[in-house]
Amino acid sequence: MILTPSELEAIRKQAVDEYPAESCGLVFVRGTERLVLPCRNDQDAKHKEDPQRYPRDSRTAYYIHADDLKRIAQLELQGYSMAVIYHSHIDVGAYFSPTDKKQALMSGYLDPVYVVTSVVSGQAEATKAFRWSADHNEFVETER
Ligand SMILES: [Zn+2]
Repeated sequence: MILTPSELEAIRKQAVDEYPAESCGLVFVRGTERLVLPCRNDQDAKHKEDPQRYPRDSRTAYYIHADDLKRIAQLELQGYSMAVIYHSHIDVGAYFSPTDKKQALMSGYLDPVYVVTSVVSGQAEATKAFRWSADHNEFVETER
């Protein structure tokens, strides 16, 4: 099991609430404790600041807000590890895109499972999970 039913529900609700912006966040685990950390998508601010470097806005990309990145670093120092990194897709399917792959590889976070929720016309559709496979050199869909 990658997500508990209540985590799945919270992630899907956040995706709907933040539509038509991509939502993002993480699930951390420490022993038997689990913690969902919804993050703010700062992509619009980045795009406004530097559209050359950040050509996409929050409808097609996410950028975890600096304050949330600090919180992530704190949690890691407290012994929490990232189990899941999630985001949503706006009006397209719940696939792991080439951009998602590039970002994941660049971040170096290959142990967490990546969860993508598709939101179409404001309604949550599929939520899918993807895990890095060194054998395939690719993210492959996994059970969530
Ligand atoms: Zn994506």
